[in-house]
Amino acid sequence: MLIHLLYVSQPVGPITTTVTSSILEVSIPNNKEKNVTGVLCQGSGLYMQVLEGERSMVNDLYSLIKADRRHKNVELLLLEDISERQYGQWSMALVHLSKDDPMVQMKHPEFDPYSATGKDAMKLIEDLIKMGSPIEPRIS
Ligand code: FAD
Repeated sequence: MLIHLLYVSQPVGPITTTVTSSILEVSIPNNKEKNVTGVLCQGSGLYMQVLEGERSMVNDLYSLIKADRRHKNVELLLLEDISERQYGQWSMALVHLSKDDPMVQMKHPEFDPYSATGKDAMKLIEDLIKMGSPIEPRIS
């Protein structure tokens, strides 16, 4: 059974390239092996991540991620069954999230994932991906 899961969290300390690389270097091969796909949005003092895959795989991975000391206040926003993957082409794409982004301001003026509904937070990610350019960094 396929699900997708969306959570929000706050980085402990600044989101530097080193921190991002250390996360992606592990995530991309791990997710490939577990057949988990998704997107990691970062910026504005937040992480938001969508994970898609077999329910047991996604649950196991979420438990690992939740315990990671590189972020805090990890809050589950949405978990639902899906019939097909939305981000199947990415083991873990990266999207930059900025509250100053005109699109975010226009479409989501009061954006706060901690108080938004899960569906609204997912919609924001979908909008960001549509207008932005998610990349899956090459891990050598
Ligand atoms: P280990 O590598 O043994 O690490 C154990 C703990 O040590 C971690 O929980 C962390 O607190 C700490 N740690 C590990 N490496 C570093 C480092 N370079 N700097 C500082 N502390 C460190 N993993 C995935 O596989 N897929 C994902 O999609 C994914 N997304 C993530 C998203 C976010 C926002 C964060 C913060 C982490 C993410 N991770 C992801 C990493 C995940 O939390 C685990 O660290 C990883 O899966 C390896 O698991 P492990 O049990 O082997 O942990």
